[in-house]
Amino acid sequence: MIEHRTDVLIVGGGIAGLLATRVLRERGVPVMMADKAVRVGGRLATRRIGPGRGDHGAQFFTVRSREFGALVEEWIAAGLVYEWARGFSDGSLRTNSFDGYPRYAVRGGMNNLAQHLAEQLQPGVRIESSARVRSVVPLADGWQTTTEDQQVFFSRAVGLTPPVPQSLALLNRDLLTEADREILTPMDYEPCLTGIFWVDGRVDFPEPGAVQQPDAPVSWIADNQRKGISPEAVVVTVQASPEFSRQLRDLPETSAIQALKLAIEPYLVGQAVIKEGQLKAWRYALPKLIYPERYLLAQGLPPLVFAGDAFGGPRVEGAALSGLAAGNVLAACLGK
Ligand SMILES: Cc1cc2nc3c(=O)[nH]c(=O)nc-3n(C[C@H](O)[C@H](O)[C@H](O)COP(=O)(O)OP(=O)(O)OC[C@H]3O[C@@H](n4cnc5c(N)ncnc54)[C@H](O)[C@@H]3O)c2cc1C
Repeated sequence: MIEHRTDVLIVGGGIAGLLATRVLRERGVPVMMADKAVRVGGRLATRRIGPGRGDHGAQFFTVRSREFGALVEEWIAAGLVYEWARGFSDGSLRTNSFDGYPRYAVRGGMNNLAQHLAEQLQPGVRIESSARVRSVVPLADGWQTTTEDQQVFFSRAVGLTPPVPQSLALLNRDLLTEADREILTPMDYEPCLTGIFWVDGRVDFPEPGAVQQPDAPVSWIADNQRKGISPEAVVVTVQASPEFSRQLRDLPETSAIQALKLAIEPYLVGQAVIKEGQLKAWRYALPKLIYPERYLLAQGLPPLVFAGDAFGGPRVEGAALSGLAAGNVLAACLGK
């Protein structure tokens, strides 16, 4: 059993958790982070396949607020983020449907943004990866958080940034007030089955290398080489709509991969062949319900904040803004 003591423990190292941690550090609050995965990033996910790589969670992000815009400017200046496109084909056109709004991508893949944010927290912030939190229990003056690998964190406050059902599974729900339970319990997410495929040869997608059809069974298909993150090889990402994902997730993995692979075939050029495919089944991809505030501070307990992309607004931007707000409220709870 390894014991850690800190003021705030942030559970989850997606963009919300990373930015909450950044704010706390900037405000001089001792903070640690635990994430269940080997690498931080959550749904900012990039995977190697064959000689290339593909984003298999978030594909790009947009900017709607000045606050997130300032962060994106910082990342562009650091050479990390670039504008990929201003719209995507719906499959019916050979040119993209330009709508004037930039879609940003991350050099080397979305996960690099998370790695960059984690590096900026060093030295100073302990980040425990491969540390799946099992329980979060209130004490007289804070929280005891235990991981499956027998680490125990004693903290004055906790920030929970996983998708809400995963956060609720860590707590005895009876500790929450009825009002908080009524807000949190119905919060659910759409699934997304994603395939990434290594293609030996050429593919021919409309500019800028992707097709977006929100109402079709395959809602997104993109060439990561054209996007600029996989110079070594063509890697195609295929994402199923929520409805198609629900149908596919009950099938054996090989059948689901086969169904997603079919979507690439019309775009293969000449002798191009699909060499390899991998599947990722996101159970919690996109929130169905958005709580209007950027975080929820649980009532009647030591400081406990729920945050992430279901609070204040969806997608990468919503998660980022929620993380910033959560960091600020946790610092304020501790008088910092
Ligand atoms: C397939 C897909 C496509 C998407 N496309 C886009 C897009 O194109 N544009 C866009 O803006 N958004 C997109 N999104 C949404 C975007 O990725 C998310 O809104 C955003 O990344 C959420 O960040 P977050 O920090 O709230 O949550 P997450 O990234 O989910 O982070 C939560 C973290 O909690 C950790 N965790 C969970 N349980 C535990 C536990 N018990 N113990 C410790 N750690 C735990 C996880 O490992 C994870 O790192 C997409 C999402 C998916 C899945």
